Amino acid sequence: MTESYDLTIIGGGPAGIFAGFYAGMREANAQLIESLPQLGGQVQALYPEKHILDIAGIPDIQAQDLIKQQVKQLAQFPITQKLDQTVTDIQRTADGFTVTTPAGTSESKAIVIAVGNGSFSPRPLVIDNAAELQGKHLFYAVTNVERFRDKRVLIAGGGDSALDQALMLAPVAKSVQLVHRRDEFRALEHTVAQVKASDIEVTTPYMIKAAEPVADGLAVTLKKMRTDETITTVWMISW
Ligand SMILES: Cc1cc2nc3c(=O)[nH]c(=O)nc-3n(C[C@H](O)[C@H](O)[C@H](O)COP(=O)(O)OP(=O)(O)OC[C@H]3O[C@@H](n4cnc5c(N)ncnc54)[C@H](O)[C@@H]3O)c2cc1C
Repeated sequence: MTESYDLTIIGGGPAGIFAGFYAGMREANAQLIESLPQLGGQVQALYPEKHILDIAGIPDIQAQDLIKQQVKQLAQFPITQKLDQTVTDIQRTADGFTVTTPAGTSESKAIVIAVGNGSFSPRPLVIDNAAELQGKHLFYAVTNVERFRDKRVLIAGGGDSALDQALMLAPVAKSVQLVHRRDEFRALEHTVAQVKASDIEVTTPYMIKAAEPVADGLAVTLKKMRTDETITTVWMISW
């Protein structure tokens, strides 16, 4: 028999989990479908150890604890949770929608789309061997700060993610160098001020031109923007 719901929430990040909780408050028969094997969206998958400071009424909470609290709040209600399932199609029907995942179809009177940035994948570093370096020397998320203890770390980017990660790693890494292709940063002013006040080495306007594994680590070549000049090589310690 086809499963039938009042509401289908697509995406189990912070927005989708809270939508699930509210569906419970409204006594709706709801399902929450998430493509990752766990709830929490970007917060759980990309920065579980970050301290989040900008939630109204909560001055400081670690990202993974926020998700734990949200999941606990959701668990008050019998919302059907389907993890590791990606919604691949939605079709309008006479009285609602047919929702398709690789596991099958279900009917739903209404849909909340809470997919955030979508099924997120990083914007890869544009160097020839980025795929080979990924997971050994090259990372697109910091899911375990301890992994970087006493390492020399280079972070590329000028937005909140880059500066947040730099600040998270500075207390544990041997050194942190932040490389950005512009002299100005897009991150929140307060975050930029924290970086400037820290011992993070800021290198602008540079971009990563190449990265090659060497005997004792990784040789990273930086190119100064809009010039042919100055190519700096940074040696990093491997693990
Ligand atoms: C490094 C970093 C640090 C950040 N720090 C902060 C911070 O300090 N404070 C702050 O307010 N914000 C911060 N953000 C932004 C914050 O993480 C996002 O605004 C937030 O995650 C958005 O929540 P969401 O539920 O809308 O979407 P997401 O967290 O993107 O969750 C969407 C979910 O939908 C799922 N999904 C997508 N497509 C499908 C599909 N077809 N079927 C099923 N599931 C699907 C995804 O797998 C994902 O789990 C940060 C972001 C990053 C990357």
